[in-house]
Amino acid sequence: MSTEKEDGVCENKLCNDLDIKCGISSNLTQGIDSINVNNNNSTISVSVCANCGKGEEESHKLKSCTACKLVKYCSRDCQIAHRSQHKKECRKRAAELHDEKLFKQPPPKDDCPICFQQLPSLHTGSRYKTCCGKTICSGCSYAPVYDDQGNKVDEDKQNECAFCRVVAPKSIEEMMERERNRMEKDDPIAISDLGSYYRDGLHGFPRDYTKALELYHRAVELGYSKAYNGIGYAYQYGQGVEVDIKKASHYFELAAMRGDVTARHNLGVNEENAGNIERTLRHYMIAVRGGYSNSLKKIKELYSNGHATKDDYTKALRLYQAYLNEIKSDQRDKAAAAREDNRYY
Ligand SMILES: [Zn+2]
Ligand SMILES: [Zn+2]
Ligand SMILES: [Zn+2]
Ligand SMILES: [Zn+2]
Repeated sequence: MSTEKEDGVCENKLCNDLDIKCGISSNLTQGIDSINVNNNNSTISVSVCANCGKGEEESHKLKSCTACKLVKYCSRDCQIAHRSQHKKECRKRAAELHDEKLFKQPPPKDDCPICFQQLPSLHTGSRYKTCCGKTICSGCSYAPVYDDQGNKVDEDKQNECAFCRVVAPKSIEEMMERERNRMEKDDPIAISDLGSYYRDGLHGFPRDYTKALELYHRAVELGYSKAYNGIGYAYQYGQGVEVDIKKASHYFELAAMRGDVTARHNLGVNEENAGNIERTLRHYMIAVRGGYSNSLKKIKELYSNGHATKDDYTKALRLYQAYLNEIKSDQRDKAAAAREDNRYY
């Protein structure tokens, strides 16, 4: 391992682009280190270099350790000189800061652009439309279309996209053609989907892990954080790269922090496999709140084998109910009752 990696610098370009630090940065750029001086009941903050003690007056460019934000330095030389002394504390604080971000409940999924109700997390609960690039809920996708007089419109009309009214593709070829068009418009969902076709060898695409990874990376660069999950799987199962659970979890974290519940669940599984029950439960709880029922099952399992308390399980059930209250609708129930592939929770 190189010294850079020892110091915990994220070697991944994407993380740096997104300003997500995975550990201790070797660059000092900003931040605050202060010594609090109590002066007549008022607290004054004084900044000094952690190595040589120079204050702001002597050195106008004190820069803080980007990883921990605990200390400041007047120069790179001072930072280097102080490194061995600072390393342990820095790592500890950087890990704490990372966990603070990691274990925050992310915002819920977007609303369906038609009924304005939160989209379900379960993949069959929504449809990505290759016509307009919108993701609409299973309820709206299934809902019958009525004309001005309130009559149900004919079969062909029922196949129209509920958002843009373009008729659904009639063959896989036609669907692929539309996906290609979306890709050319830099639609990251279409790009990520194509990545999955290559990964799994679907719809006539040859299995090609390298190509899949390329497409996932492009999709995340275009802002589709769910594609981080695809990169995570590649490292988890060694598809096109060496198996590396640490890296897999790193990518799952990037997706999970942006609200991907599958990635959140995967983090729970990796922590459970590593025997870290407390972290496992925290991940599963967040996934349950986001509507991931497998995480609820996992918490139930942990409860039955004595690794989680009754309170944990009760809390999980409550969180899942709160999620259901947000996504349940009559139209979605009707769609689910009519077809299994409209199931939304
Ligand atoms: Zn100094
Ligand atoms: Zn530090
Ligand atoms: Zn809807
Ligand atoms: Zn459409």
